Amino acid sequence: MTASENGSENAPTGLLIIGASQSGVQLAISLRALGFEEPITLLGEENHRPYQRPALSKEWLQGEVGNESLIFRSAEYWDEHNVTIVKDQRIVRVEKNPDGSGVAVAASGAEFPFKRLALTVGARARKMAVDGADLAGVVYLRNADDALALKAMVGDATDVVVVGGGFIGLEAASSLKKMGKNVVLLEHGSRLVGRAVGEETAEFFLDAHRARGLDLRLQARIARFTGSDGAVTGVELEDGTVLPAQIVLVGIGVIPNTELAEQMGLAVDNGIVVDSHALASDGTTVAVGDCANMPNPVPGSPAGERIRLESVNNAIEHAKVAAYSLMGRREDYAGIPWFWSNQADLKLQIAGLSMGFDETVVRRDDERGKFSVLYYRDGQVIAADCVDAPLDFMAVKNALTKGQNIPAAAVRDAAPDVQLKTLAVQRDAQDVPA
Ligand SMILES: Cc1cc2nc3c(=O)[nH]c(=O)nc-3n(C[C@H](O)[C@H](O)[C@H](O)COP(=O)(O)OP(=O)(O)OC[C@H]3O[C@@H](n4cnc5c(N)ncnc54)[C@H](O)[C@@H]3O)c2cc1C
Repeated sequence: MTASENGSENAPTGLLIIGASQSGVQLAISLRALGFEEPITLLGEENHRPYQRPALSKEWLQGEVGNESLIFRSAEYWDEHNVTIVKDQRIVRVEKNPDGSGVAVAASGAEFPFKRLALTVGARARKMAVDGADLAGVVYLRNADDALALKAMVGDATDVVVVGGGFIGLEAASSLKKMGKNVVLLEHGSRLVGRAVGEETAEFFLDAHRARGLDLRLQARIARFTGSDGAVTGVELEDGTVLPAQIVLVGIGVIPNTELAEQMGLAVDNGIVVDSHALASDGTTVAVGDCANMPNPVPGSPAGERIRLESVNNAIEHAKVAAYSLMGRREDYAGIPWFWSNQADLKLQIAGLSMGFDETVVRRDDERGKFSVLYYRDGQVIAADCVDAPLDFMAVKNALTKGQNIPAAAVRDAAPDVQLKTLAVQRDAQDVPA
């Protein structure tokens, strides 16, 4: 195999970005916008052009959008911007010099010398450790190959068991139900979306999905996946119940891809540890997106608090911070982290980060189908989960951006049709409307 056939390069690229997805793509785009002139190589292990993941559990799975709509940028765009796309190369080792340059070595043996390095390696699906987990028909949903495999099976399946009541599980279960499948969702914990939302929101989603006919079972204890001729036939629970399934879709969270960082000797702790400018512990490599553990980017959050976020918005904003760092500038994370999840007809938007909250206020307008939970820490609003309530979402996001509060007492007293933005006050003048 020649160097050009396996994608490897002899001359060092200006920046090698390992991981060609949301963060890597944004990093390349932001660097070009900032005037970075050196060649960029955007390299990934997947054998697809860089694509967006969110629709894989939603519109794409349901057949509402096609493959092409997931692709980030055209081949012409990358050519015009002097970004070389390398597919199907898994980097297994990086040798790095103190000045930031080095060489990345792929499993194929191809070598990719670089002047600077970015790790945008994301996360992978956590695997289920249970008898029968290797049977055909037991699938995950992290990447395009997973999604293509799932879609290829869906036509012949009547019964699907989804394991995991997080965002991916709920989105996929809703999609599969809409596609006419008998879907049972099994959650090990005592409530849904355990990690990402508070109790009120979890309860709301449980009721809302059940009201829409989804068979959701909490505290489900899976004994094993049953099979015949190597293919899954069902899920057996510890109480002896057997749920028929031709597809078992497992969505039990992700594990950040930190192996390369560990091999390079970078600090790792639930992700690649970076400073507020996306720089890893060697001071030259940037690490961005789902793979990175960073200081909480919300202004005013406690010193030393760290977080690893798994969202499109974070991948984009974090990549912008890293692009500045690679240009020799030190800029803070702009904006407030936010997230969305579409499940059946329910559109959840989350503004801010609810970690460390000590008070919640629920705002509910059943007539108009709106539901919001505002999270407070020490009297200050820090986040909101908003279902079909985009004005509440925008009000909290704007208040956080502007350093304002929306006092809990005012929200509690307000009628459901009062707009939250009219209750916002400057933090240092809590009784003066902003
Ligand atoms: C089904 C699904 C639905 C989602 N829905 C939403 C949503 O509604 N809203 C939202 O905000 N977020 C959503 N997300 C999350 C969002 O897609 C991720 O947060 C985002 O993709 C993170 O981007 P990233 O580039 O940091 O990591 P990733 O997207 O994980 O990309 C990392 C890339 O690096 C590659 N890679 C890893 N190691 C190597 C290596 N050694 N060599 C070469 N390549 C390597 C991987 O193959 C991968 O292509 C969803 C995710 C999934 C899977």
